[in-house]
Amino acid sequence: MLVSLVVPCFNEEEILERFHERVTDEMTGLGHEFQLVYVDDGSADRTLVILQELAAADPRVRYVSFSRNFGKEAAMLAGLQHAEGDAVVIMDADLQHPPELVGRMLQEHADGYDQVIARRTRKGDRVTRTVSARAYYWLINCLVDVELVDGVGDFRLLSRRTVDAVLELTEYNRFSKGLFAWVGFRTTTFAYENAVREQGSSAWTFGKLLNYGLDGLLSFNNKPLRAALYLGMVLMSVAFAYAAWIVGFALVKGVETPGYVTLIVVVTALAGVQMVIVGVVGEYVGRIYYEVKRRPHFLVKATNTQAAPQSIREPQEFVRR
Ligand code: UDP
Ligand code: MG
Repeated sequence: MLVSLVVPCFNEEEILERFHERVTDEMTGLGHEFQLVYVDDGSADRTLVILQELAAADPRVRYVSFSRNFGKEAAMLAGLQHAEGDAVVIMDADLQHPPELVGRMLQEHADGYDQVIARRTRKGDRVTRTVSARAYYWLINCLVDVELVDGVGDFRLLSRRTVDAVLELTEYNRFSKGLFAWVGFRTTTFAYENAVREQGSSAWTFGKLLNYGLDGLLSFNNKPLRAALYLGMVLMSVAFAYAAWIVGFALVKGVETPGYVTLIVVVTALAGVQMVIVGVVGEYVGRIYYEVKRRPHFLVKATNTQAAPQSIREPQEFVRR
């Protein structure tokens, strides 16, 4: 069995060599044939040079380097496209995903699981981040069809047929947590204690996280549109009831002039609600705009490998095995 490790790297020069050493040691111990697929996501530092050195020294190393930073989602997609393994493990380059867990993943895979997910605990995280994550997952699970679990990230093993299925999803706005959950197949999860980043700093700023969260919410289904519709219907009913009451009151008692406060409150509140709804609709239109352009997910600047052509894979592969 060939195991591929897909590793997105963005400015990881400080840790990459150590990562490579740790992972090759670990994998050698496991006794499976393996390959490493590093994706340099347009790093500005020596990441690509290090990858080229690693590749020169070790034939099991594949690398793909992007023309600029396209984001981790694109990097993972490229990695999956280039991975040839019967099982593919996606892991971060910063050693926050302990390589020791790959053995356990492979064991569970041997037991027949297509996706083996390592779920990190929130130990060592700032309280604000833990609380906001909890709130976010509660909200998102109300709003999307697939189930998303807090702490479940991209650190996981995928069987060949799962990888193929993920690669069938060619959408431009990729929210891989959701894509993996959408694909399904036999899935199992185990927890591990989160390791603190050893070197460098997380590329996730608060703004990036917020946008990522919104992407997750909006890129999965049209439930936010449905919510907007319901909200509109509720407001409309309230408005009709209120209008009926006002008209009835005016018919019985005549018109009372004051009403300035009510008027202003209603106008501004409804304007706000309308703006939000237009914003939600706009988000979907924006997504359609990006999808119809059919731009590539990334551009490759340098590589020592070739993507497996999707077209030769036959659809039967999904039911076989
Ligand atoms: N990464 C990437 N492109 C980006 C940002 C990050 O390929 O634009 C990679 C990064 O090199 C690392 C992984 O994605 O291997 C996770 O990134 P990071 O550690 O910054 O995120 P966190 O661990 O805080 O989720
Ligand atoms: Mg990290």
